[in-house]
Amino acid sequence: MAEVRVNLANHSYTIHIMAGIISQVGQLMKDMPLSRKALIVTDENVAPLYSGVLADSLAAAGFLPFVLVVPPGESSKSLATADKVFTQAISMGLDRKSPIIALGGGVIGDLSGFVAATYLRGVPFIQVPTTLLAQVDSSVGGKTAVNHPLGKNLIGAFYQPQLVVIDPLVLDTLPERELKAGLAEVVKYGVIADYDFFDYLIRHQEDILARRPDELIEVISRCCQIKAAVVAQDERETSLRMILNFGHTIGHAVEGVGGYSEYNHGEAVAIGMHGAALLSSSLHLCSTAASAAVKQLITGMGLPLTAPGYGTDELLGYLARDKKVVDSKVNWVLMQDVGRVTITQDVSEEHVRAVLSQ
Ligand code: NAD
Ligand code: ZN
Repeated sequence: MAEVRVNLANHSYTIHIMAGIISQVGQLMKDMPLSRKALIVTDENVAPLYSGVLADSLAAAGFLPFVLVVPPGESSKSLATADKVFTQAISMGLDRKSPIIALGGGVIGDLSGFVAATYLRGVPFIQVPTTLLAQVDSSVGGKTAVNHPLGKNLIGAFYQPQLVVIDPLVLDTLPERELKAGLAEVVKYGVIADYDFFDYLIRHQEDILARRPDELIEVISRCCQIKAAVVAQDERETSLRMILNFGHTIGHAVEGVGGYSEYNHGEAVAIGMHGAALLSSSLHLCSTAASAAVKQLITGMGLPLTAPGYGTDELLGYLARDKKVVDSKVNWVLMQDVGRVTITQDVSEEHVRAVLSQ
C-alpha cells in the first residue's frame, strides 16, 4: 500500500494506491462526512468490469450507490452528457454532502469533476481512475472540464477531490495502446523532475510494460508525488505548473494536425517530448547524451518519436494557436538535463523548424 498526501493551500487529500483496493473504497469513505446516497459515473467499457465491485463496496459500508453509465470516449466530455449527470443527481436527490464518484479514465474524471464542482455549487468528489493516464495525471491536480464544439477543455473549474483510490490491477484490462499513452506522461515526470525515477524506468521498462503490480505501484506513486508537489506549489498554473506541459507544445500541434484521431494524446506527447529534447540539445541547454536518453526511453516504452508526413508549416501554425501561448510567444519547457527543465520563450522559429523537419 502506498499513500500520497496532497497538501494544498485550503485543502488536503490522500491518494491510496494498492492492488485490489477498489473493493475497499466504501471502507475508505466511511469516516468521511458524507451523505449515504452516492452517484458513481462510469462508461460503457468500464461499467461491466468494475462498477459491480465498487458499488458493492459502497453498499457494504452503508452507502446507497447508483451507477450512471455514459458512452466511452472524448465525446462524453460535453455539456450534453454533464446535463444527464445533473439530471440524475437532481432526480435521485443528492444533497451537499452526497459524493460523486468518477470510475473510469480521464474523460469520466474530467466530466464528473466538472459536475461535482458545479452541482449545488460543489459536492464531495472522489476519483477511482482506471486508465494509467488518469492514475498518474488527470485524477491528481484538480483540473476538471468539458469540451465545447469550438475547443477542448474550454468549460471547467479547478476542483479538488476528497479522495483518490488507485488500483493498479484494473490496468490488466486496459488496451495496450491506452497503457502506452499513459506511459508517455510517466516518462515526462522523470524528465521534468527526477533523474532517479527516469533511471528506474529505463531499468524496469519490461516489467512495467508487462503490468507487474509492484512496478506499477512504484511508477504510479512516484508520478503522483511529483504531480502533487508541483500542484501544491502552483495550484492554478501561473508558473511552475507549466513544467507539466513538457512535450505538450509540439504534442498539441501533432494532435491538431492529425485531427485528434491519428495519434492519441500520449503518442502525441511522446513525439513532442522527443522534439523538445532535440530542441534543448540544439540550443545547447542540455547535452546530446541527455536528449538521446529521452529518445531511448520513449522508444523503449513503445511510443513514436516523429509524425512522418506531418508538414512543418502546418505544425508551426498550430504551435502559434496553442492556448499556452502568452503575448504571441510560445512558452517552451526545455531540458537542462534529465530531471531538470526550464521555461523559456527565447526560441527562434529556425530552431523549431529544424527540429520539426527531422
Ligand atoms: P478515456 O477516459 O477515454 O479512457 C480510454 C479508454 O479506455 C476508454 O475507451 C475507456 O472506456 C477505456 N478504459 C478505461 N479504463 C479501462 C480499464 N481499466 N479497462 C479497459 N478499458 C478501460 O481516456 P484517458 O486517456 O484516460 O483520458 C483522456 C482525457 O483525460 C482527455 O479528455 C484529457 O483531456 C483528459 N486529461 C485531463 C487531465 C487533467 O488534469 N484533468 C490531464 C490529462 C488528460
Ligand atoms: Zn498530457
